[in-house]
Amino acid sequence: MTTANTSVFRAGLLDGQVALVTGGGTGIGLGISTLLAALGAHVVIASRKPAHLDAALAQISAAGGKVSTVSLDVRDQERVQASVNEIVATHGRIDLLVNNAAGNFYAPSATLSANAWRSVLEIDLFGTFYCSQAVYPIMAQQGGGRIVSTSMTLHYRGWPLMAHATAAKAGVDALTRTLAMEWAPQRIRVNAIAPGPIPTEGVRKAFTPPAESGVPDVFAAAERHMAEYAAKSIPLGRWGSPEDIANMVAFLASPAGDWITGAIFVVDGGEWLAKPAL
Ligand code: NAP
Repeated sequence: MTTANTSVFRAGLLDGQVALVTGGGTGIGLGISTLLAALGAHVVIASRKPAHLDAALAQISAAGGKVSTVSLDVRDQERVQASVNEIVATHGRIDLLVNNAAGNFYAPSATLSANAWRSVLEIDLFGTFYCSQAVYPIMAQQGGGRIVSTSMTLHYRGWPLMAHATAAKAGVDALTRTLAMEWAPQRIRVNAIAPGPIPTEGVRKAFTPPAESGVPDVFAAAERHMAEYAAKSIPLGRWGSPEDIANMVAFLASPAGDWITGAIFVVDGGEWLAKPAL
């Protein structure tokens, strides 16, 4: 786990900042929450499951970080708004929003149910919009802020069995550029990060195709030969880690990000450029 002592960033870099991280209790989001707290921010982790929230709270507080949690489904716009109001009532401000919550799974497009389609679009894209819109007046009033959304690279060339997630993340990219332009006068920097493959529990579940689809379980096969797979398929020769993404979030949250908006940073060891089409 990254601490103030092991981070490449200076201790206290984000002192006084308040960061809201959706899906911040597991996987990449937990890596982001951990680093932001280690650098001095008060981190509010928002997601649905108490088990995720409680474990993250315990882990980050034990390391000396300032952290709290809010139980929230990003699809529920009213709850998003109420949660943002509560955070501002308690902490007085929100400097950074990290839109990291997402849902994903393999499913053939021909039989993808309306419910499944809607669910992923609502979490990944609508949720990103609801959270961004809710923090806008706060950030505008305080003279600026940062929004960083988690995208992906699979929609750059298309990715079979991921129509829902690739469409949602393409929307997140479009939203990032559009909000960056609309909200620049308020000094709200809006950027996104497109991670490459990071073997979190969430991605393990998402990349396990249903047995009936007949699609080979590429991820399980790859995991059996993690090092060899990475050496062959990822130009920089290794899988990613939550810390790789967290470092980019910290950079964007710091003064180094002052002149950056509307950008989508691919952090993937060169994977998408080298990957053959599925
Ligand atoms: P993960 O551990 O499954 O993280 C997803 C998080 O989102 C969970 O903490 C979950 O918490 C939360 N969440 C899901 N639905 C939610 C909802 N309706 N409302 C609020 N929170 C919700 O997966 P991950 O691999 O760390 O992925 C994190 C982000 O990186 C995602 O945006 C993903 O698309 C992106 N990404 C990941 C990879 C990768 O290889 N891992 C690659 C490219 C992009 P609860 O269950 O408690 O709600």
